[in-house]
Amino acid sequence: MNHIMIDIETLSTAKNAALVSIGAVFFNPATGELGEKFYRTVTRRSCEDTWMDVDENTVAWWEKQSEVVRAALNCPNALPVAVALHQFAAWIEIHSEEHKPFVWGNGPSFDCAILATAFAAVGIKLPWRYSNERCVRTIVDLGRSLLGIDPKHSQIAGVAHNALDDAIHQAKYVSQIYQSLSAMAAPREVAA
Ligand SMILES: [Mg+2]
Repeated sequence: MNHIMIDIETLSTAKNAALVSIGAVFFNPATGELGEKFYRTVTRRSCEDTWMDVDENTVAWWEKQSEVVRAALNCPNALPVAVALHQFAAWIEIHSEEHKPFVWGNGPSFDCAILATAFAAVGIKLPWRYSNERCVRTIVDLGRSLLGIDPKHSQIAGVAHNALDDAIHQAKYVSQIYQSLSAMAAPREVAA
């Protein structure tokens, strides 16, 4: 499997947002199969020490969430941000079929962009090619506008705003839309 769905929870929506948690899962959009999973929580202190942004409005949003969601903020296993990112980069490297995984996140300005800023802040090389980033929001829009389907909202599983549950949910609905688009695609000519 060489596609990775990523979801992060943060304390800001700025590019240099402080990270709360990182969730990721390998998947195959052509089959919907899921593979290796990754989840780490990050200490707020380590993010602040790295000059990552904490935004009042986002903190207020966290305060309104359920106890289950807020547990990510006080996780006893939380790691310093540099350690969590180092482990994340190693996990990607170990489990990628080749060294060019496709990395999916929500929107061009969120998950991938914030993680790229965080990797740079702690001096770790981005563990994917920037040109291999793929956008969940775009494929959701294609599903709605071209196919009239919206599996994002038709089957919610897991805890919303848990980064790993969100990543798994996203991988599932992206795969469904991908397969529906694929079924509509003209058959490719195969060279003789
Ligand atoms: Mg999320």
